[in-house]
Amino acid sequence: QGKNNLRPRFLRCLLSTMSSSTHPPRVPNLIGGSFVDSQASSHIDVINPATQEVVSQVPLTTKDEFKAAVSAAKQAFPSWRNTPITTRQRVMLKFQELIRKNMDKLALSITTEQGKTLKDAHGDIFRGLEVVEHACGMATLQMGEYVPNVSNGVDTYSLREPLGVCAGICPFNFPAMIPLWMFPIAVTCGNTFVLKPSEKDPGASVMLAELAMEAGLPDGVLNIVHGTNDTVNAICDDDDIRAVSFVGSNTAGMHIYARAAAKGKRIQSNMGAKNHGVVLPDANVDATLNALLAAGFGAAGQRCMALSTVVFVGSSKSWEDKLVERAKALKVTCGTEPDADLGPVISKQAKERICRLIQSGVDDGAKLLLDGRNIVVPGYEKGNFIGPTIISGVTPDMECYKEEIFGPVLVCMEASSFDEAIDILNRNKYGNGAAIFTASGAAARKFQMEIEAGQIGINVPIPVPLPFFSFTGNKASFAGDLNFYGKAGVDFFTQIKTVTQQWKDIPTSVSLAMPTSQ
Ligand code: NAD
Repeated sequence: QGKNNLRPRFLRCLLSTMSSSTHPPRVPNLIGGSFVDSQASSHIDVINPATQEVVSQVPLTTKDEFKAAVSAAKQAFPSWRNTPITTRQRVMLKFQELIRKNMDKLALSITTEQGKTLKDAHGDIFRGLEVVEHACGMATLQMGEYVPNVSNGVDTYSLREPLGVCAGICPFNFPAMIPLWMFPIAVTCGNTFVLKPSEKDPGASVMLAELAMEAGLPDGVLNIVHGTNDTVNAICDDDDIRAVSFVGSNTAGMHIYARAAAKGKRIQSNMGAKNHGVVLPDANVDATLNALLAAGFGAAGQRCMALSTVVFVGSSKSWEDKLVERAKALKVTCGTEPDADLGPVISKQAKERICRLIQSGVDDGAKLLLDGRNIVVPGYEKGNFIGPTIISGVTPDMECYKEEIFGPVLVCMEASSFDEAIDILNRNKYGNGAAIFTASGAAARKFQMEIEAGQIGINVPIPVPLPFFSFTGNKASFAGDLNFYGKAGVDFFTQIKTVTQQWKDIPTSVSLAMPTSQ
């Protein structure tokens, strides 16, 4: 309670809907249970992408502050790992309740910093909340195994033990869901954690950490350090950090994978995507077009599971016109407007990049059926808006196909047969997700069997698995071998200790031969 009264200005601003300050508040680090202003000499502006207003300033955490955060996590570990699992679960039980109570504030922070619509921001939080709910059953998830009497009077059992200090590095596109993929699983397994939120939208992470502490997470169990490359490299290099969870681009993800592995850490690295939707002519037209719109343009295309490429097979190509008509009807505006379908993209640089990739498609001979580049949004003229954009006649050699666009751009391709469509998908380097729209069970089954992607949707456009499964991207979309959340997530944040015990009268003879079980 005392801590709450001392909330730094940043948190007070967030909790009073971030309005009143004349100077942007500084985003605090969280070290050893205290929200502290960084002594950093450099800060980065967190910018509202719909208005260009500076929402807050995020510090480039100093080396000493980083060390203090890791040290706090290290100190908190012995007592937290020995805290009964039931107590750790109860913290999560309270945490999920507090997240529910604070949904609206969290969503407003996300929309203000990231730009997505308020409804979509609620979805962002909810998909993370489900992971917290899942962590409430950690005692069962973390159970070991036991084989009695492996030899006379001898039993063997294995325990899943926490690793120690773990770290998480987050992208900008899901400011709540992705931190919640990471630390709730890690800490409920008994680890302590250092979180580095995206420097573009750190607000939700700080609010979630405050709620986690209010729920009873002891000081030092969760720490937050802000920053960019230097902070990330410090995480990779630090000898006290045992495991790194990363979500973001391939450039950063492969760098982190290599650098942290060189220090002997375990890493799970979820990276970029180019998810395809294959449309067969027997699919339900309305349901398919609505699914393509939702998965292509929701969150302004800034989802790792966005369906950014449609492959029309045979006569389904004629549906393109209807797709364009429906896309034109989508409302592009600031995410806080009640009728918004899609908000802005994250930054001016992102907008420039997306526009350049759209132009490259045109230059390479594709047809721009809908061009959202010059949209002006009344009342938000400075925002980084791009309207829904549809490029048709795209071929696999074009840059707009090869690159992850990460904007509200649907790239449309054609295949004369289902086999040709499967071949296009399998030749793509990414393997996050793929969806098929069809009325044929046989085609759906063939797709499921033959597609080399980690998450398949059958008449489902964004098949992000619920937390009792895992998020299972593959090929260039993932590096590591234990995926996020689900059983694999628990395995990632634990190591196995195998115990062999003997309880019988001590044998009288000595044998130096290798013990065997007979
Ligand atoms: P990003 O890689 O630019 O940033 C992610 C994190 O890495 C940030 O915290 C950033 O500070 C850090 N970082 C960036 N460049 C770095 C570098 N050179 N060295 C060290 N650290 C660096 O990603 P983003 O733009 O924030 O997020 C968008 C990307 O994330 C897209 O490619 C998207 O597909 C991917 N993504 C993947 C998943 C998934 O589960 N596969 C989920 C969400 C987003």
